[in-house]
Amino acid sequence: MAVIVYTEHEDGKVKRSSYELTAYASELAKRFNAGPVIAVSFGNIADSELATLGKAGAEKVINFQGEGTEQVDPKLFFENIKSVLDETSPKFVVFGANNSGRAIAPLVSAHLKYGLVPGVVELPREENGKLIFKKNAYSGKAFADYQVNTDGAVIMLMRNSFDYELGEGAAQVEVRQATGEGSYIVEKVEKATGKVPLTEADIVVSGGRGLKGPENWHLLEELAEELGAALACSKPVSDMGWRPHTEHVGQTGLTIRPTLYIAVGISGAIQHLAGVSGSRYIIAINKDPEAPIFKACDYGVVGDLFEVVPKLTQAIREFKKKQAGG
Ligand SMILES: Cc1cc2nc3c(=O)[nH]c(=O)nc-3n(C[C@H](O)[C@H](O)[C@H](O)COP(=O)(O)OP(=O)(O)OC[C@H]3O[C@@H](n4cnc5c(N)ncnc54)[C@H](O)[C@@H]3O)c2cc1C
Repeated sequence: MAVIVYTEHEDGKVKRSSYELTAYASELAKRFNAGPVIAVSFGNIADSELATLGKAGAEKVINFQGEGTEQVDPKLFFENIKSVLDETSPKFVVFGANNSGRAIAPLVSAHLKYGLVPGVVELPREENGKLIFKKNAYSGKAFADYQVNTDGAVIMLMRNSFDYELGEGAAQVEVRQATGEGSYIVEKVEKATGKVPLTEADIVVSGGRGLKGPENWHLLEELAEELGAALACSKPVSDMGWRPHTEHVGQTGLTIRPTLYIAVGISGAIQHLAGVSGSRYIIAINKDPEAPIFKACDYGVVGDLFEVVPKLTQAIREFKKKQAGG
């Protein structure tokens, strides 16, 4: 028995979300006495970096390297993950509720003949010998309890839904040569322009039509710089070409769950909220006190963003200076 967790990395570093998935897998292993946590990763990355997954509870990391492993290829990745599944007979396989999870988890579920639960937000409970998972429903506007009727489960965990702390320890790393053929060749990858990847960011500063034009985005860039935040935007903003499509969040864009989401000049339409309502805290800056975003936020500033944002950025700058003793 084992708990398998699919982990990812970017720019030579294990993604923050992968530590969360591994910590979740580790808690599952403890609660259900389900054996060691084995992380699976693809692509070139230093063993010493992969070993840090041990701090989140992974006993071992199997790293597949070789042709086709640098970009997610569901067919190739599944072919290799299958070998680990067949060796370990896991009770649980954990993916993120993200694009790679959506592409690979169903193949794993079909292979193991386990129920697949997307959008999980908690550890499962057991009732009458059945596993019950709490999951997101209706684009995050409600929760549902799903009962899985199989012995094990394939889980897709929503980001930022599991609190964890990293401990000590290093995972053992085993490098394997990936086998099999991919199903496609990636010709071009359009990367988000921000310094912090949007789906990984802890803090997101997001702008809407209230900014009036791309020439005013420096206001948000400066705020994001002070906070170490990623930038996002509403759909009309990317439709009008003010910002790249990679920053568009919402029902038809990215779903994000940062710790803090700052919505500037965004009305808070239901389609926008569908992509950000999982944020732990939402702050809204909007001049219209009736804007729906104020019903969805934790803190709101009713005011003109062109006055409020520069003052906020300056206040954060001064606070940081004071903290640094300057
Ligand atoms: C099928 C479908 C899918 C969609 N998917 C998405 C999606 O994925 N993501 C998404 O974002 N939208 C989506 N939309 C569009 C959505 O319905 C809204 O139209 C959109 O979110 C509005 O964008 P906005 O808030 O930037 O602009 P607006 O609704 O125009 O709001 C601008 C806000 O800025 C405020 N403002 C103006 N000037 C200032 C100022 N000086 N200071 C402070 N505040 C100011 C205004 O009070 C207003 O609340 C979708 C729509 C449909 C029909």
